[in-house]
Formats: sequence, structure tokens, C-alpha cells
Amino acid sequence: MKLSIREIDDKTLAEWLAQHKQPAFRAKQIREWTDQRLAVSFAEMANLPKALREQLAEEFTVLAIAPVNELRAEDDTVKWLSELQDKAAVETVLIRAPRRNTVCISTQVGCAVRCAFCESGRNGFVRNLTPAEICDQVVLASHECGKLVDNVVVMGTGEPMHNLDNLLPALETLCDPEHGFGMSARHITVSTSGIPAGIRRLADQQRPWNLALSLHAPSDTLRALLIPPRHRHRIADILDACAYYRKQTGRMVTFEYVLVGGLNDSKSCARDLADIAHSAHTKVNLIPLNPGAVRWKAPSPETCEEFLHILEIRGVQATLRRRKGDHIRAACGQLKARKGAPETDAPGKD
Ligand code: SF4
Repeated sequence: MKLSIREIDDKTLAEWLAQHKQPAFRAKQIREWTDQRLAVSFAEMANLPKALREQLAEEFTVLAIAPVNELRAEDDTVKWLSELQDKAAVETVLIRAPRRNTVCISTQVGCAVRCAFCESGRNGFVRNLTPAEICDQVVLASHECGKLVDNVVVMGTGEPMHNLDNLLPALETLCDPEHGFGMSARHITVSTSGIPAGIRRLADQQRPWNLALSLHAPSDTLRALLIPPRHRHRIADILDACAYYRKQTGRMVTFEYVLVGGLNDSKSCARDLADIAHSAHTKVNLIPLNPGAVRWKAPSPETCEEFLHILEIRGVQATLRRRKGDHIRAACGQLKARKGAPETDAPGKD
């Protein structure tokens, strides 16, 4: 099994180059190709001798992930299923818009939270992604765009707060202007199902990453229908952690709210959500449930608009997401379900 060049540390790379009678500056050239020029193959590394490129390719890969399935929507959304070195698979989605390209990346194979509406969590947690496997999803999407993506949202498979040991170094690489990708921290959003200890740890980094909380219900009772008890926390405790995040980073938190027909789309839910969003000083993103092999349905467009209107007339900054990539099923876990796993009646998260 080949290691990716990003996964080997600087000392090991220097030793490998010395063993192959290469000057030390080659390490810097290689790192420039992987971290700043977003190469996906050694063949692209034009300032390295051809023989060295071939030797490197014999022993290493550039990316720690290898795309094995790709779906393209008419709106240019691209979804990849990539194989990892141990044959586990991970999903990445590129959402293209006229002025910005956004990649949605995964942090784990499977997920321990097991939200009722999510295919990714259906079979539970498998393993954490390494920093290289996390960063390489950004490289993959950027390579497709021909330039570094504008935004990264950590909203794919996995609960990011359960893999902070690897996510934090990955985020540092993405933001490092000298040895990394040089992205603005303000263009990175980390989404959580609501893990207070993780939110506080992220806050303590004091970096202006955006935080998105998948609230999905305005009461603990309703939320209990969507998130199993093992990793579900009291809304009050989650909001305390979000307030701490705002204090430490100066960043506004966003609520993500998947609208599920007949479950959390009532007028009273909208009014209760408005009250919470007001007191927590948050914006709200409403996301109609993604269509697919689902047990539940998205509310009608009229119901979604009415829900949005109730938030707005109560002074909450809110958006209703227009769907992207529906026909390639660009929701958490759905590409993987199409490739191998049996279809289920559980909708994926957005
Ligand atoms: S929605 Fe997110 S947190 Fe919930 S099971 Fe799916 S991946 Fe995990």
C-alpha cells in the first residue's frame, strides 16, 4: 500500500530524497506542488527530473484519496466517491456558483451520531479520516475548478467534533499561507450536530472559522425524533457552547434546519425557532429535505416559504436553500448508497 506524499513528514521526505541522492531543495519543490499548486499527480511536477517523478510515483501517491465514482449534475454540482488506502470510501461534493466554488468535505467514514434522516450514519462509525484525507478532498475539488475553491464546508459524512484531532491540523494546512493552501479562515465552515465539548475546543483555537449547528428542531422532544440519545445533547447546553464560540471567535453561528414534511415544518416550530435564533443571535439556513430514497418527504414549496416568512417577520436573518445537485443525489451518504450499499428509506442530510 503506497503512502501519500502529504502523509509523510518533512524528516522522512528529506531522508528519502537523500537516499535517492537528490538535493534537499527537492523537498520544498514537492511541498509547493502538493500544498500550493494543488497537484494530483507526480507527472505534473514539471520542475522535478523525470526520473525522480517516476521514482516518487513508484513509492508514493500524491493524493491519499482516489476517486472511483463521479456524478455530475446539470447545474455543475459534482459528487465524488473516493477510495482510501484501506478501501474505505469517502464522499466529496463540489457546488459551483457563478462567483464562488464551494466544496463540502467529509471527516469520517460513517458516523456515530446516526441521525434518523441520514444515510451516512446508518451503519455507524467506521473510522476517522486523516488530515491528508481531509485536505485532499479540497485538492480534488480545486483541481476540477482549475484553481483553489473559494469556500470549504465541513458538512459531509461524519461528525467533525468527533475527529478534531485530525480536523484541526487539516484546517491549519488549509489556512497556512506559507506551507499550506492559504485560504481565509472566514471561508471555512465547520458543521456539527451539536457536541458542546467539541464546540468549546474549536472555540479555544480562536480562529474565525464559521460554525454551523444542525439544530433541525426547536425543542429537545422533537429533536429526540431525529437524533438518537447516545450523541444527542440538550439544546440549552449546545446553545451555551455556541455562545462561548461567538465570544472566543467573534463569529456568528448559523443554524442549519432541515425541513421535514409533517415533522418540524409547522408554524409553531417556526415561531419557536425564531425565538431561539433571536436569543442566540444566529442566522438560520432552511434546507428542504433532499429527495431520494426517503421515509419522509420535503414540505411543499409553499410550506417552506411560509416557514421562512414567519422567521423573517420575527426579525430573524434566514435563507431558504435552493436545491443543488438533486438528480445526482448530492446529500450525505447517497452516492455511497448508489454504488454499493442497498437503498434505504432514510433521507440523507444536506
Ligand atoms: S447528519 Fe451528520 S452527524 Fe448526523 S449521522 Fe449524518 S453525518 Fe452524522
